[in-house]
Amino acid sequence: MSGANGTHNGNQNGALGSHGDGGAAEAIENVIVIGSGPAGFTAGLYAARASLSPLLITGNDYGGQVSITYDVENYPGFPVSVSGPELVEKMKEQAEKFGTRIEFDYVTELVTDQFPFEVRTTSGKAYKARSIIVATGAHPRYLDVPGEKEYTGKGVSYCATCDGFFFRGKDVLVVGGGDSAAEEALFLTRYATRVRILHRRDKFRASKILQERVFSNEKIEVLWNTVISEIKGEGGSVKQVVVEDTVTGATSELTTDGVFVFVGHLPNNQLFPGKLEMDEDGHLITDKKMRTNVPGIFAAGEIQDKVFKQVATSVGQGCAAAISATRFLEDVEAGTPVELARDPRELAAVAVAA
Ligand code: NAP
Repeated sequence: MSGANGTHNGNQNGALGSHGDGGAAEAIENVIVIGSGPAGFTAGLYAARASLSPLLITGNDYGGQVSITYDVENYPGFPVSVSGPELVEKMKEQAEKFGTRIEFDYVTELVTDQFPFEVRTTSGKAYKARSIIVATGAHPRYLDVPGEKEYTGKGVSYCATCDGFFFRGKDVLVVGGGDSAAEEALFLTRYATRVRILHRRDKFRASKILQERVFSNEKIEVLWNTVISEIKGEGGSVKQVVVEDTVTGATSELTTDGVFVFVGHLPNNQLFPGKLEMDEDGHLITDKKMRTNVPGIFAAGEIQDKVFKQVATSVGQGCAAAISATRFLEDVEAGTPVELARDPRELAAVAVAA
């Protein structure tokens, strides 16, 4: 039986094999992990160590956001810091060492109303899976102002680590007031002669240690209460921006060579509308066991976390999702029926005053 209201007995799908069910019958994966950031690789590692031979499908942005981070200073175990790409490689190597199979492919469709679930990819492959761990992460939020799209790659950037080098001896603007803006502005001082941070309020939300570094860096200036309303260029590259004072409403122009935008992230949730429950900002809603509203589908990392968004928390969530998937598969193996329409989550009840 299939369909959202279907009940499925796991044993009808056979015992769990080392790669799911191989042989003449259609192969069924035990676990497919979607995404290759810290949450995805950790989920792969734990599922592999549970002898589930997980398949991890990387997505287009291999390594996720940490892979475009120059230095990670707050991931435990690396007191001298570690580069984002190196951390990703170490996580991949460790997940593979225990049997995670990695496919460089992009998931285009997730079928959640049948069990086993189905995952289809850009390369035309279709996989069946008894459990899915979604770790699709997030992508940068855009400013959505005239000129932004037109000059992306021509002076507008969302990655200082990738593009900073091209701004040697130049003047750049950084937009945002969070950890990313502070960290990337500091990174850009290696190349640029002047870095001006434009923030829409008069206070940063970045951590104190980063704020202190920003304020004590001679190459950095902060323009408070300032937003960009247009990006202008000449000869195919950025030359000016129109800015607005958020307090007085006054507008003016700034001359610059580049605009680096760090105004937060949006979850990569294109696969899930109508299938998995999301909050108003588009994050998947999970319980503490990382379960989504569909039994057998779990989520970890920034696709479901709008609060912490750290490498360390994503790693913890990936670990938890894999442990929950392992327990789910044990139940399926023991013959517990999978009721797709039955939301397995234990969500917090309305708080009662103490
Ligand atoms: P964030 O903390 O959400 O900050 C986004 C910033 O952009 C805020 O200052 C916000 O202003 C501003 N902003 C949002 N929309 C805007 C718009 N349309 N125009 C102008 N400004 C706008 O995002 P993030 O800095 O990327 O950090 C995301 C998460 O990753 C955070 O949890 C952060 O702690 C973490 N992170 C950690 C590190 C680290 O630990 N080293 C490094 C990078 C990121 P308001 O302040 O007014 O809201």
